[in-house]
Amino acid sequence: MQEIIRQLLAELGEDPSREGLLDTPKRVEKSLHFLTSGYAADVDAVLNNALFTVDYNEMVIVKDIDFYSLCEHHLLPFFGKCHVAYIPSTRVIGLSKIPRLVDVFARRLQVQERLTNQIADMVRDKVAPLGVAVVMEATHLCMSMRGVEKQNSFAVTSAMHGAFRDSARTRMEFLELIKLRSAVPGVREAAAYACVGDE
Ligand SMILES: [Zn+2]
Repeated sequence: MQEIIRQLLAELGEDPSREGLLDTPKRVEKSLHFLTSGYAADVDAVLNNALFTVDYNEMVIVKDIDFYSLCEHHLLPFFGKCHVAYIPSTRVIGLSKIPRLVDVFARRLQVQERLTNQIADMVRDKVAPLGVAVVMEATHLCMSMRGVEKQNSFAVTSAMHGAFRDSARTRMEFLELIKLRSAVPGVREAAAYACVGDE
């Protein structure tokens, strides 16, 4: 990978042999491996038996999980907050595991919509809850840095299954608990305009 990055620097009009760039290929390689380490991660290994049988059927919410991902159209970051909620049927998942599971999917080349769905599907498949909801709010540097539709560089996506899909009351309770920024007048218009891979 390092040779390709040296070539890339040269293509950009840089001198890969100047002092400041000498170790850049090595750093970029290491950085990219970390930022895409989700491909090699194993959901079951991360879970590591952190599923517990309980008699509890109230909503469980983990909100404001910081995440960082890379847009697959431009290889530029998008990042923000992820909120995960589910209603247990017979099992709960260790709370500290949820941010780590978000990272498994965020550390890949992604689009925000798919990332949101993958997290929701994983909770549905592994925990078999009565319902699961995932909302992600993110800023896309591929939009804001490139000066494309700056006002739409903030995007909100959601995935709902089970009770969250079927019951408006459950859904509203969740949205109220996470105090979604897009619920603020004037911000809602920004919803659903994630990077569209236009250019
Ligand atoms: Zn993009």
